[in-house]
Amino acid sequence: MSLPKSIAHLVNDPRIQSVDDERDTGDGYWVYLEPGYQDSESDLHLIHEWRVKDLLRKVQGIKPCDCQDCQAWNTRQAYLEDKRRELVQELLPHSSLDERDLAKCSLEDLYQLSAVDTTWCEDAEETSYALVAEYEALGHLPG
Ligand SMILES: [Zn+2]
Repeated sequence: MSLPKSIAHLVNDPRIQSVDDERDTGDGYWVYLEPGYQDSESDLHLIHEWRVKDLLRKVQGIKPCDCQDCQAWNTRQAYLEDKRRELVQELLPHSSLDERDLAKCSLEDLYQLSAVDTTWCEDAEETSYALVAEYEALGHLPG
């Protein structure tokens, strides 16, 4: 089901991962929070309500969460960000992009970049490709 206008904006809230409208199965609204946030009433990483009014009230009460899971997630994100920076430094000399462009690159873009203009030096290509592969593998690790 598409979301009612009154809550459609919630999908743009950086604290919110996704919003499910389950009214067609009589199950109300579900708001799943990004790691690092919790519902202040239930302490859960999600909000469940049947009425828009109640849902919006609870969204206003979303608070930061530093439970073990959220802390582990933050640590992992910081580690991934370090890896990404390492990758950007490796790929930058071989591309026409500046660092800001590379920061927005998708994984696919990074793979393409790792293979561009490095034919003069096989080592460089292998190194950057291996780095992208390493970065991708890290992203797929559970929790
Ligand atoms: Zn948490």
